[in-house]
Amino acid sequence: MAEALQQLEIDDLSAEAEQFIRELDSETYLHFSGQKETYDLPPIYERHERLTRLDTALALGASVDGERRRRELWKFACEGYLGNFVKEEASKVAELEATLTARVGDEEVPYRMLRPRIMNESDRGERAQLEALRNDLTEQHLNALHLHAAEVVHTETTRLGAANYADLYRGFAFRLDDLAAQCRTFLADTESLWEEAGDRIYRARLGLGLGEVERWDVARALRGAEWDAAFPRKTMLPALEATLGDLGVDLGAQKNVELDLEERPNKDPRAFCSPIDVPGRVVLVIKPQGGPDDWRALFHEAGHTEHFAHTSPSLSMEERRLGDNAVTEGWAMLLEHLTIDPVWLERRLDFSRPYEFAAEGATFLLLIVRRYCAKLLYELEFHTADEPTALRPRYVELLADATKVAPSPTDYLADMDGGFYASEYLRAWAFEAQLRSYLRERFGNAWFSRREAGSLLRELWAEGQKPTADELLQDVAGETLDLAAVGDRVREALAAA
Ligand SMILES: [Zn+2]
Repeated sequence: MAEALQQLEIDDLSAEAEQFIRELDSETYLHFSGQKETYDLPPIYERHERLTRLDTALALGASVDGERRRRELWKFACEGYLGNFVKEEASKVAELEATLTARVGDEEVPYRMLRPRIMNESDRGERAQLEALRNDLTEQHLNALHLHAAEVVHTETTRLGAANYADLYRGFAFRLDDLAAQCRTFLADTESLWEEAGDRIYRARLGLGLGEVERWDVARALRGAEWDAAFPRKTMLPALEATLGDLGVDLGAQKNVELDLEERPNKDPRAFCSPIDVPGRVVLVIKPQGGPDDWRALFHEAGHTEHFAHTSPSLSMEERRLGDNAVTEGWAMLLEHLTIDPVWLERRLDFSRPYEFAAEGATFLLLIVRRYCAKLLYELEFHTADEPTALRPRYVELLADATKVAPSPTDYLADMDGGFYASEYLRAWAFEAQLRSYLRERFGNAWFSRREAGSLLRELWAEGQKPTADELLQDVAGETLDLAAVGDRVREALAAA
């Protein structure tokens, strides 16, 4: 049994953890924004060796009291301990993803561009071929690294005093079993809804019924190319600025927010947010392409950006940088889903069939939430199994059951999020659905155009991640977080079309 630490030692570790996070976020920003080909995690881990040691994690574990701050720091140290064993694999995977290419005709297409290529390819046969090329690269170069990392994490978790990875997170107060039960209920309750709405949308977007769709068609349908004209590249940022302006936020005047819009060949095509210092320096990175999918990604990342940028500097490190990530994901979803809100679409864009588009957006929200329900159920099985490779067919089975389209077995390792992040997304979707209906009741359907709604949001953003998503929702709306709210939200949008 490790000895509990003194408060001064804990404060010292906490300050070092903040520096550690700052360096990790800064490296992530440089690599994924295309400013640095390598992704050098090992030297960062070496500089903060103290936070990766087993004795530090165990001593922090022994120091956990009723206070959430200490539990958060203990969780961080456990993740540092595990991350230290797989930092080489993580660096290697990122570097390979940045440098591998596939030969398509007489062109070399970078690995990270294969997915966007599939989304933008209107020919089915070409899409199937691109997907096969991507799977080959994943299988040949990446899966051995993913597998080794999974095995090491599996073994090392027991040294932290947990029977397995799922138990470790239960110890961090992740209510995984309660959420898994909600997922099973959600999957059962929305099964026929998805079968009908899914069939309708695939027919509308691809001319294929749900039974005919293959996995390489799904990304193409999600892309929503037929709506591109309504979501032009050049109005993305102005629409974001105007929306934030209505809420009382002047994006251009925020000194702690940087927009990285530069074109770089290796820049990741997906928008992302790097909260290098919270709230001191938050970077929103985008490579604007236009189209509904790109708009959604921009608004999602802007939600994170504003949450971190408004976080009160007087909060503790644990409340600003750690805590419940369902909170920041919830704020991200709230802004993201404006782009499928018919009232917002009518107001902000020159949009002729907003209710039809909103219904399609809600249908894909249903798909994604069903997919994540299956992912969480899969991860719970994966992390309690003795032999990870045995879970490959289970991945296909669980995801196919939820989405009605079989995924590639190749992705059974890469399609997992560390730290049960899938559970944070699921709770964030519930949070968004419930908070949105509260905002509409209190401020009207155009709540996003009301300055008072903006004042409320800014007040809540200032709390950082001190409260959990459950506590925030309880405080504001007097409700308990419940995934069923997502089903109601989807049904409402479908009925309005
Ligand atoms: Zn996010």
